[in-house]
Amino acid sequence: MREWNARLQAGGWAGINWPSAFGGRDLKPMQQIIWYEEYARAGGPDSSAFSVAQSHAGPTLIQAGSAEQQAFYLPKILNGAHIWCQGFSEPGAGSDLAAIRCRGDVSGDFITVNGSKIWTSFAQGADFQELVLRTEPGSKRHRGLSWVICDMRTPGITVRPIRSMDGEYHNCEVFYDNVRIPLANVVGRLGDGWRVSMATLAFERGRSFIGSQVRLIGTVERLLAFAKATRGADGARLIDDPAVAGRLGVLRARASGLKSMTYLAAGRSLNDAVPGAEGTFVALMLAELKQEVYQFWMALLEVRGLEVSAAPHAINPVLQYLFSFAATIGGGTSEVRRNIIAERILGLPKHDALAAELPK
Ligand SMILES: Cc1cc2nc3c(=O)[nH]c(=O)nc-3n(C[C@H](O)[C@H](O)[C@H](O)COP(=O)(O)OP(=O)(O)OC[C@H]3O[C@@H](n4cnc5c(N)ncnc54)[C@H](O)[C@@H]3O)c2cc1C
Repeated sequence: MREWNARLQAGGWAGINWPSAFGGRDLKPMQQIIWYEEYARAGGPDSSAFSVAQSHAGPTLIQAGSAEQQAFYLPKILNGAHIWCQGFSEPGAGSDLAAIRCRGDVSGDFITVNGSKIWTSFAQGADFQELVLRTEPGSKRHRGLSWVICDMRTPGITVRPIRSMDGEYHNCEVFYDNVRIPLANVVGRLGDGWRVSMATLAFERGRSFIGSQVRLIGTVERLLAFAKATRGADGARLIDDPAVAGRLGVLRARASGLKSMTYLAAGRSLNDAVPGAEGTFVALMLAELKQEVYQFWMALLEVRGLEVSAAPHAINPVLQYLFSFAATIGGGTSEVRRNIIAERILGLPKHDALAAELPK
């Protein structure tokens, strides 16, 4: 994958949404969609190991990093030399990110880190991490946090992979035992980590859905092809059952709706340096539709679903079904996404305010 990324960069296709001043291609959102559609049509390889680096670590450094940080890290993100992971979630701080407890004690030119993170995707292969720490002793909630660049090979870091239902190791626990990080690795100002983290999450939620949406359209078409090519116990093609054909029609129509929503969200964020909340609509629809598509695929497979074929993970319906449960959790749960839509797009009262009014 590093090699593939280097080739993409050599051809001018790495960081397609990054400003050209930072080595990107400066494509507008609609042009990015065209790129992803053509990439999927051509059967380009899955490059999700680079998604943290290219979708949000790089854009965060462009937005808030120092000139030195930008000069050192950005080219190595673009050419695939560096893989990044995201160290935000902790056992007690997922949806409620402001509950972060992982501690960074500042002394001289270093921050000494102690604590742990969880659900860190790709930590076992990552070179660097977006690490959010509590650097102000005794600070509460959003205050006193810092966003730092953590070199994953620093002594004192232990990475423990977590096995998922599909048998893969998508996520890890990461433990920090007196890990010394140079103060120069703070992105933005010390204590300003919440603001920087919100920019990172806006990049993550705002635009990184485009590639996933294109892949889901392809999945629905593959499911359709499966229903045409497969016969049931009665010898008839699955697609000839009106109930199956009807359900597939609905799934295809919803995938089409999702495509329109993606175009709309991408078009709206055309002039925003940091994407707005509209991408959350697409991310929510995408995650829930993905689960429905694979649930229906499993129903069509019947007992055949108990056998996992040798097909690669990205196109294996059984493994994708098992992994799809995580789609409504990772990157923000469906409930949290609905809260964002309610509060930031529809302008409804904040859920905290509503909770205060509910009978005890
Ligand atoms: C595949 C995958 C990859 C991930 N990768 C990373 C990564 O690379 N880096 C990283 O830092 N994290 C990562 N995560 C973690 C992810 O961000 C968290 O799992 C997610 O934010 C939810 O947090 P939690 O698991 O602590 O659940 P909790 O926040 O404890 O939520 C538990 C339940 O309560 C609900 N809930 C919580 N708050 C509210 C609310 N205010 N209103 C309504 N309902 C609420 C949730 O919807 C959920 O159903 C990943 C997770 C998955 C599944």
